[in-house]
Amino acid sequence: MQAQIVNLFADLREQLGLTYLFIAHDLAVVRQISTRVAVMYLGAIVETGVTDVVLHHPAHPYTRALMQAVPRPVVGGMRLPSLKGDVPSPMTRQTGCRFHMRCPVAQPSCVTNVPALQRLDDGREVACHFPLV
Ligand code: SF4
Repeated sequence: MQAQIVNLFADLREQLGLTYLFIAHDLAVVRQISTRVAVMYLGAIVETGVTDVVLHHPAHPYTRALMQAVPRPVVGGMRLPSLKGDVPSPMTRQTGCRFHMRCPVAQPSCVTNVPALQRLDDGREVACHFPLV
């Protein structure tokens, strides 16, 4: 059923020249239907760009964690990695990067300095002091 709906969206986009703002947690569906993607964490965009570039070569540690958590068929099964800690309450005032408490590559400066979205050479934008490129 989901595949039929996604295919219908894609067909309508082609036939009618539509633009969608599609919000989802399922990255497989996002990849299938979107030409551009914006990844959000705690209500803020942390990475945005062409879908294939962002999802195949994540520059933000949160995007990478999302991609690593996508199940893949592997002989004998596989253990999916998970981020440490819990998502903080959006009501809690935080300093620095809003992902620093769960980020596997956080540095001391991440605790105090808010990263702005910066444009990378490939055209995407990422809000991280130490993008994974
Ligand atoms: S700014 Fe620091 S804490 Fe935030 S995502 Fe980048 S490396 Fe991690």
